[in-house]
Amino acid sequence: MRYGGNTSCVEVRLCDQIYIFDCGTGFRRLGHELQREFGDQPIAAHVFVSHYHWDHIQGVPFFRPLYDNPNNHFVFHSSSRTRCVEQVLAEQMSSPYFPINFSQMQAQRRFYNLADGCIEMGDGIRIKTAWLNHPQGCLGFRIETKEGVLVYATDNEPGDAEFDKAVRKLAEGADVLIYDAQYLPDDYAANRVGWGHSHWREAVNVVMESAAKELILYHHDPEHTDPVLDKVVSDARNYYPKVRAATEGMVIEVSRSLAAGS
Ligand SMILES: [Zn+2]
Ligand SMILES: [Zn+2]
Repeated sequence: MRYGGNTSCVEVRLCDQIYIFDCGTGFRRLGHELQREFGDQPIAAHVFVSHYHWDHIQGVPFFRPLYDNPNNHFVFHSSSRTRCVEQVLAEQMSSPYFPINFSQMQAQRRFYNLADGCIEMGDGIRIKTAWLNHPQGCLGFRIETKEGVLVYATDNEPGDAEFDKAVRKLAEGADVLIYDAQYLPDDYAANRVGWGHSHWREAVNVVMESAAKELILYHHDPEHTDPVLDKVVSDARNYYPKVRAATEGMVIEVSRSLAAGS
């Protein structure tokens, strides 16, 4: 009720550009907020899709800025290692799953295949990607700007030496690390090994071993109540002080120039 029950969606504003990471059910609410902010003005955004599990794409059919304004413009980026992003988004809205077809949406759309590596977005913004340890794969993202570094690494299971190393490298020195902490450590060990997710104790290991500054616990288990998450945060703070749990509507300002001046 307090942390929120929508699935993965994080919006990042950089130099007046909108970047969106994942389009789970939270994408629906973001669409409403963008429409309120922009009114009749066109909306443009880059949308990075970490992988195609339902909880990361399910908001697309309910994202209103895709429907009515042909001047809105969205660029979808994901890996076509399993399937290309355009096909996935069209399939989830095809008969008999949804009444409106993906092709009936009016907004302009482009689709890019992301490999692991690095994309230059202009204005000194660089987005690096790395594969995470998850069934069918998942991409983690490192957004580097002059003002700071944000890492979005959800849907990642610990325990594979190579992936463990890769996620620490992706997170290295980040100002903010958003990291998968779906399970409680004991539940993970008892019966969730191989399901592709992490827990808060591993999230704390990753933030400390990568020298990232702030940890945002993310991808909460839908069975976890607010008191469970409160306890997770206080347990995690016994090991590392700068920990918060992602909350619906949470806003984080990352600005090295501001930090240096205060
Ligand atoms: Zn997943
Ligand atoms: Zn997920």
